[in-house]
Amino acid sequence: MTTEPNRNPGPTSDDDQRRRAALVASLPSADDDTPLMAALRVDAGRRITLSGRVFPKPPHTRVMTVANQKGGVGKTTTTVNMAAALAKSGLNVLVIDNDPQGNASTALGVEHRAGTPSVYDVLVDGAPMAGTVAPAAGVPNLWCVPATIDLSGAEIELVSMVARETRLRNALHAYLQQRVDNGEPRIDYVLVDCPPSLGLLTVNAFVVADEVMIPIQCEYYALEGLSQLLKSVELIQAHLNPGLHVSTILLTMFDGRTNLAQQVAHEVREHFPAQTLKTTIPRSVRVSEAPSYGQTVLTYDPSSSGALAYLEAASELAERGASASTQEEGE
Ligand code: ADP
Ligand code: MG
Repeated sequence: MTTEPNRNPGPTSDDDQRRRAALVASLPSADDDTPLMAALRVDAGRRITLSGRVFPKPPHTRVMTVANQKGGVGKTTTTVNMAAALAKSGLNVLVIDNDPQGNASTALGVEHRAGTPSVYDVLVDGAPMAGTVAPAAGVPNLWCVPATIDLSGAEIELVSMVARETRLRNALHAYLQQRVDNGEPRIDYVLVDCPPSLGLLTVNAFVVADEVMIPIQCEYYALEGLSQLLKSVELIQAHLNPGLHVSTILLTMFDGRTNLAQQVAHEVREHFPAQTLKTTIPRSVRVSEAPSYGQTVLTYDPSSSGALAYLEAASELAERGASASTQEEGE
């Protein structure tokens, strides 16, 4: 935990944005016949537009659960890379690893051997969250509540407990309040990584959050199971957390060369035009290599197309978040 002053100097100035836009406009144009050139141009544009930029702070702490009942669709990858991209862009970010596999803790370079203070202690023993928060390796302003293997038993241990669905929410609210009381910088984003099932761990993650972010893998069965997920969100809304809503959908592992990926993307955008981010995350070896070095792709290879795509997606998320309160009022 830190008591250092908040270094976020505020959103990037108009002048700076104009200078970056002029640079992007001066890049040579590429046509569809040269896909490699086109891809390089996109990356160059993103590098100019986004590197070193400061994203706007949301009006209040945004708590987002990254969920999808399917495994291997990019939940953990999206959680840690969006979190790192937001933190690199001047925001204070907390990741809660709520999956017993502990993959988010691994990717953030955070200790998570059995017995390490973790989300298990928070959920099952009612331990204060502050004692479990650890700084992520190599990214300032980014923290993680790790998951250890102990969490695999929590699903069963929680069943008989009082307030079993709201334990994570109560702990997070107390932690956020404690930071304010101690004069520490406000957390701007909390991202919760979920296991691929709808048990009490995921229910806790839905109850702690205001928003759900769904990563969708651009492959054949992508949409299968999505209606199940949306039903689960509705159930939680009706009984436990009326404010919960799906705010964000991110298309991941996108390979624009295949018709299938294009079709899936088209279909998702048709059903969820407001929620789906414009940015898609390409399938990229660098993204999948990073966790084995205990890193996100944002630190492992910041100029790779995967890192730049996550930076762009995070920028969209932050820009939408900055104006979300006015949008919601207008709905
Ligand atoms: P989940 O948390 O939904 O189970 P993961 O984030 O662990 O999914 O991703 C599943 C696998 O796919 C991992 O091996 C991960 O490294 C890989 N992966 C995720 N996103 C990408 C990507 N954009 N490009 C290449 N591999 C990816
Ligand atoms: Mg995962």
